[in-house]
Amino acid sequence: MELDQHFLIDEKILRKIVVLSKVGERDIVLEIGAGRGELTELLAEKVKKVVAVEKDENLFLDLKKLDGNVEPVLGNALDLKFPKFNKIISNIPYSISEALIQKLIYYDFELGIFLVPEKFSKLLVGEKNTKLTLIANIFYDINLYEKIPPEKFSPKPRTYSRIISLEPKKPNFQETIFKQFLRQRDKKVKNALREAIIQGAERFGKKFTKNQAREFTKEFEIDKKVQNLDLRELEKIKKVFWK
Ligand code: SAH
Repeated sequence: MELDQHFLIDEKILRKIVVLSKVGERDIVLEIGAGRGELTELLAEKVKKVVAVEKDENLFLDLKKLDGNVEPVLGNALDLKFPKFNKIISNIPYSISEALIQKLIYYDFELGIFLVPEKFSKLLVGEKNTKLTLIANIFYDINLYEKIPPEKFSPKPRTYSRIISLEPKKPNFQETIFKQFLRQRDKKVKNALREAIIQGAERFGKKFTKNQAREFTKEFEIDKKVQNLDLRELEKIKKVFWK
């Protein structure tokens, strides 16, 4: 499988990422695809700990030589259960961009700063309306920062890149339920909704019985798993929530 190795070689951009990350000594940072560890080292100077995930065993061995507050983890970021972190800061392997966002919706964190392909960044902020756009914008406030040309990497990637931030939104009642719903990818729509309503209500100190939740989910007769819903169906369900 492709490893997507394009190392950032511009010190100024590395520093810019660190500044945007607003890191301090209480932060536990997760870095995906730490590579040769340049960003890892800059972060490690400022934070409590950097968990540096890397799939390439040789690079992982190099990461092990870094300072004591760097904790290298060998593996595929998509398969691992992430340890606790409050910020995720990465120049990520571009081919896992979408899968990583999908994975992150199961984790609570304060801030994400990423370098992603330009096209992907545009997708997130809704240049084209996709399922990913809808999901990402339910969970996060998304900001685009500097656009980075291929020359700033070695070897050069084929596309421009973009620094972006993801800030988890403070969800209201409806949003909390919809988030809980989206997190239950493997369940049938109706069951996921019922669970989401009960759990979401609990977080807001309200109580819903199974029967009340069932009453609400009556109109959702879609016999599909949550992960198989298309954009139109998701939008329809969302609309009912916001009513
Ligand atoms: N962050 C570094 C490297 C970026 S290149 C820098 O800024 O220079 C992307 C890195 O991700 C490479 O080191 C590659 O080996 C690693 N990688 C690729 N796929 C991965 C995966 N699925 N899980 C974890 N690391 C991965």
